[in-house]
Amino acid sequence: MTGTGRSAGILGGGVAGLTLGALLAARGHQVTVYERDRAGGKLRREEVGGLSFDTGPSLFTFPEVWRAVLARLGEPDPLDLRPLPGGLGLHHTPHGTVPLPVPPGHPLRGEWTRYLAAAAPLRPHLGTLLTTPPRLRDPTFRRASAALFGVTGAHLTAEGWLRARHFPPALAHALRTHALNAGLPPQDAPALYALIPALVGAEVLRPAGGLGALLDALLAFLAARGARVREGMEVRAVTGQSLRMADGETARHDLLVSALDPARLAALRGRPVASPPGRRTVAGVALYAALPAAAPLPATSVLPPGSFAAFRAAMRAGALPPDTLTLVHAEGRRLAMLLTAPATGQPYGPEHPWVRAQIARAERTLGVPGLLATAREVRSLSPAHYAAGGHPGGAIYGAALASWRGGPLHPQPYRLGPGLWQVGSGVHPGGGLPAVLGGALIVDRLLRESGN
Ligand SMILES: Cc1cc2nc3c(=O)[nH]c(=O)nc-3n(C[C@H](O)[C@H](O)[C@H](O)COP(=O)(O)OP(=O)(O)OC[C@H]3O[C@@H](n4cnc5c(N)ncnc54)[C@H](O)[C@@H]3O)c2cc1C
Repeated sequence: MTGTGRSAGILGGGVAGLTLGALLAARGHQVTVYERDRAGGKLRREEVGGLSFDTGPSLFTFPEVWRAVLARLGEPDPLDLRPLPGGLGLHHTPHGTVPLPVPPGHPLRGEWTRYLAAAAPLRPHLGTLLTTPPRLRDPTFRRASAALFGVTGAHLTAEGWLRARHFPPALAHALRTHALNAGLPPQDAPALYALIPALVGAEVLRPAGGLGALLDALLAFLAARGARVREGMEVRAVTGQSLRMADGETARHDLLVSALDPARLAALRGRPVASPPGRRTVAGVALYAALPAAAPLPATSVLPPGSFAAFRAAMRAGALPPDTLTLVHAEGRRLAMLLTAPATGQPYGPEHPWVRAQIARAERTLGVPGLLATAREVRSLSPAHYAAGGHPGGAIYGAALASWRGGPLHPQPYRLGPGLWQVGSGVHPGGGLPAVLGGALIVDRLLRESGN
């Protein structure tokens, strides 16, 4: 118990900050989490039209990472994770519809099996890549990295890997879509991201009580270990291990861990980066609608962009693509539509012409014209919302790294000084919850090894 009695201040109460806070509290640190708004960050509960919606993440994947968090905390799993019907969903590509995973009897099943076989050697190592510090002197990490390079070969990008496999156009188009898990188009995403549908496999999950149950669980773990979560406490300055809040309150801790965007932290330390990171990962417009009756839709529908070349050009120029990647989640009377947008921090709402055009495209493609207009209430979250507490421009995963620096292998700046560390999607770009939970495990281990 290296941390016994030491005080730890965590900046930011998103999933990353809460998870690391629970891990530190479990090792005896006296933990305080400072959150400018509400705990949960991008994951929060909102009431829309009398229904409860969990905004932010909707799919829970790579559950072995969550199990590793539970094991370190010595907790049973409170989430009751259930497979989502239809897995990653029905993909409406310009070459035809493709369900992922492709079920037995489907004309693309043979090609899907070939795809699975190509990714199979990596699957047993993914947990290691997500939860182990990236140190090549560690034999377990070395084996996992070798498995990764064995599968991705000489290809740097997801696009390069997919092209070399010569899959039928519909399957290739559907697989390209999942490169966006890196927050980048397939031409820019590391090759690993071409493999996401194979690696996720059948484990596309959601807690029975919705993703908000993850937030409840983390808050309960913190409370049980005496940690404090202080909502509405915006940190305005960081000097050494001291904090100054927006209301003038100050605090000093033996250890500080930032779970904020790295550029945001730099500004709080009085060292603003000259210009915010050039290229950024994508942002989004999320629409949450309470319908009068259940929509006749599968749990998840995916509309990839018609052309990934046009999509990439638009994202790079900070422009709105003619047709964007759109995810539609339907659950009873709840409908969530997530439109991928460039990270320009714009406050696009449901009435914006581009948003209206994307809604119309989705409704037309899914055969439910005018569906959103029937909603009792629609709530929208824009790139401006994601920018408010997150990364510049509302980039969901922060700065866009070159493909050879992305994924689990790039050197992460976890330790900024003896008493100042960082965690979260800013230092684990791409990957969503598994990367954020795994990153908390990595930083907890490095802190322990460094005597914290
Ligand atoms: C629409 C959408 C869909 C997604 N879908 C999925 C999915 O299906 N599956 C998946 O795994 N992932 C998904 N993700 C990604 C996932 O939600 C994120 O990776 C994860 O929530 C990031 O957590 P975080 O703690 O790193 O960052 P954040 O949630 O951004 O937390 C940062 C926190 O810091 C706080 N903060 C900022 N500045 C200060 C300050 N000065 N003082 C104090 N506090 C401050 C913010 O208010 C915020 O609460 C999705 C994200 C979005 C937006």
